[in-house]
This record gives sequence, C-alpha cells and structure tokens, in this order.
Amino acid sequence: MPKGYQKRTRNLYDPNASEPFRVSRSKIDLFHECERCFYLDVRLGIPRTSFPAFTLNNAVDELMKREFDTHRAKNEAHPLMKHYKIDAVPLKDPRLEEWRDALRRGIQYHHKPTGIIFRGGVDDIWVNSQNELIVVDYKATSKKEEVNIDGYWQQGYKRQVEIYQWLLRGIGEKVSKIAYFVYVNGKSDAKAFDGRLEFEVKIIPHEGDTSWIDPLVGELAGCLRSEEVPKPNPTCEYCGYREAAGKELQARMGTAKKASAEKSSTSTLGI
Ligand code: SF4
Repeated sequence: MPKGYQKRTRNLYDPNASEPFRVSRSKIDLFHECERCFYLDVRLGIPRTSFPAFTLNNAVDELMKREFDTHRAKNEAHPLMKHYKIDAVPLKDPRLEEWRDALRRGIQYHHKPTGIIFRGGVDDIWVNSQNELIVVDYKATSKKEEVNIDGYWQQGYKRQVEIYQWLLRGIGEKVSKIAYFVYVNGKSDAKAFDGRLEFEVKIIPHEGDTSWIDPLVGELAGCLRSEEVPKPNPTCEYCGYREAAGKELQARMGTAKKASAEKSSTSTLGI
C-alpha cells in the first residue's frame, strides 16, 4: 500500500554538524539538473516523489555483473571485451564490493575544498595493461533502432561515468579517460515472445571529461550552506504546474473559508 508523501527527516544537511556531509552521485546530478530541487531535498527534506523501481533493468544489471564476475575470477577478458579489442580484464580487487555498494558506501572521496564526502556506486571496473582503472556502466533498454549515447537522456549517463572517474581519481587511483557502457538492447521485433526476451549487447566507449565537476561541487557546497532557497530551473514544467496548482488551491480555499466565516457570523447574529 502506498504510504502517501512523507517529508524526510534523516540525511539532511546541518550547517552546524561537525561530521562531513555525504553527497551521493545521484544528488550531484540532481543539483546539476535543478538547484532548487536539490535544496528542497537535501536541506529541507522535501524530495521528489518516488516511482517504482525498474526491476527488469535491475535483473539485467545483476546478470551482467554475475557474468563478468566469472571472468574476473579467472583473471581473463570477457568474450565481448575481446570482440571489441579492449585491452583490459575485469578488476579483481577487495575494494570492488564496497565500490559497487551504491546504497550505503560506493567510492567515497573526501573532497577537501568543500569538506564534503562525495560517493557513488559503480557497476563494474576493468583494468587495462597500463594499470589504469576503467569505469564501466551497464545499461538496459529496448529499442528498435541501434543503441547509442548521443541522445538527450544519455548525456546524464555520460555525467554519471564522469563522476565515477572523478571519484576514483579523487581517492588517488590512476584512471583511464575512456569509460565503457555495456549496453543491452531487448529485441522487441522477435516473431513471438515464447517466454523469452532476446538481447543484443554492445560496448560503447566514452571519453570522459571531468573538468565540469570541481566547479559544480563548489557551487553545490555553497548552495547547501546558504539559507536562501535557489531559483527553479526555468525549463522545468513541473514547478510551473506546482505553482499554478498551489495558487489555485489557495485562492479556492480562501474563498471557501471566507464564505464559511460569513455564514457563521450571520448565524451568530441569528439572521
Ligand atoms: S524547477 Fe523543477 S526540478 Fe526545479 S524545484 Fe521546481 S520542480 Fe524541482
């Protein structure tokens, strides 16, 4: 049963706290999208409404992880990596379990200029012959056309892997500027479902640019410490909707209250 909307009371930024505040990769992205939504969430405990988890995507992620893990155990490249001539193997490192724990831990970088601990959980990490770590993200979709990372929504995917590269460099790792998306495309043009969904898997490289992140997290820290609520994102329709709905409701409730006050004062006078 849905519980209805609830304000959050935990994990809020407290300007007087002595412990460093922790900000996840998804909150960096939220700030990138809209400073006000970030502030509402992290300072005021008013997050956006949640939506159901993409369980099919999660299942694909989990299966991909398992598949790459079998090759990791043997210290060998996955056949797909060989097919794409990628000079690397899945990283075998005791820290990988922590780095993959997106919910609680992930790669944790105490960023001295802001005093904030930034963190993010990766899907996978490979290592190349120059001992550079390679950020890998699994993506699942279902499209008739060939998948690519050129669309509007995929810009967020690029930011995501760039943040992981930045986090890894922040904790002192040598990181390849190339990240990879292992992109799984469910084929919707099969003749029949027959209880099976077939997939095409493609590896897409992306040359990460992390130069935007330090300035952004500087602004994010300033926003967190400020008592002033930031301006909304002018391209977001939702704030306009919220404002219009709020004004309309307030106006109607005000009219209803006025009418009921008038009614009760009339009845007190016995009219
Ligand atoms: S502009 Fe959109 S994203 Fe920003 S606070 Fe309003 S609803 Fe949130």
